Amino acid sequence: MKENSVGWLGGVVINTDDGRMVFDPQAARSMERDAHIFISHAHSDHTLGFHSSVMKYSTKETRRIYEKLRDKTVRNWRPVEYGRKLRIGDTEVLPLNAGHMLGSAQFKVITREHTYVYTGDLNCVKTLTTEPADIPECDTLVIEATYGDPNFIFPRRERTYAKIVNWALREIKDGHMPTFHVYSSGKSQEIVRLFNVYTKLPVVCAPVVGKANEAYSESGIDLSFVEADTTEGRALIHKGNCVYVTTTGSNSRVPTHASEAMATGWAVRFGSGSYASFPLSSHAGFDQLVRYVDRTGARRVYIFTGYSELISKHLRRELKVEADPLPLLSQRSILDFQNES
Ligand SMILES: [Zn+2]
Repeated sequence: MKENSVGWLGGVVINTDDGRMVFDPQAARSMERDAHIFISHAHSDHTLGFHSSVMKYSTKETRRIYEKLRDKTVRNWRPVEYGRKLRIGDTEVLPLNAGHMLGSAQFKVITREHTYVYTGDLNCVKTLTTEPADIPECDTLVIEATYGDPNFIFPRRERTYAKIVNWALREIKDGHMPTFHVYSSGKSQEIVRLFNVYTKLPVVCAPVVGKANEAYSESGIDLSFVEADTTEGRALIHKGNCVYVTTTGSNSRVPTHASEAMATGWAVRFGSGSYASFPLSSHAGFDQLVRYVDRTGARRVYIFTGYSELISKHLRRELKVEADPLPLLSQRSILDFQNES
């Protein structure tokens, strides 16, 4: 493996003899014309690459959610499917399920000498809307560590589901409308599905959540809900005998009889003020991350986001692998690499 072939330059970069692969770019400088851009999932901190004119790859579900939420059309794009390799020169790229939300992908990059895996946000347990992440074998792994601290170990999902449903039923009995503040895509649809599967309560969704719900339904995950900005939605919210799903930061629009809740992995450690909070995470907790790294068999691990220093130390000590925070690359190092190639 050539030195400096993996690192951060406005996105996660893996340099190969067949060009620069950039994963979830967050800056224009990483999206030069010769790059190949891969977008792992539809959360807004990962989708800047869709704006670029450079060729980009994602699952069709990721594109569909992005287009619904942004009201934009993506151009110069190729779909990828889990388990189906694509070829760029002599390099193969294998998309795999990341378990984080509908359409979320990891990418295994296979060159003649080496295998790499890039995983953005991932979740290793089954949920009502996603299957657990695949665990691909590789030489070098680039992985997120949002919850790379041993304090973040999540309870069994079924237990959290039961707590959420019990809380909502109790609130309605007491005359309050259970109201969830969550991301418009991913967690929202899991909450809608939870109430669809385990209760007969009507679920009302803010318009932006409704748009993501449509993308899920079009992809085969059926969700029953009423849009808030309809006569039926307004009547249900007025009465309060329903579940209301809205986005984070939209508390000014909830009625006074709302009883508010957050569903996030941070809840295992931090409270949410006057909100109820439930440790429902779309990310792997610490124990899941360590198990995932171990099972990939990677001898070289680069970690970005979250607790990268902390989990690097743990992986070095416990798994005896080379683990470090993802290094920063300079344009210079990339030019050097290209000149050597
Ligand atoms: Zn995400």
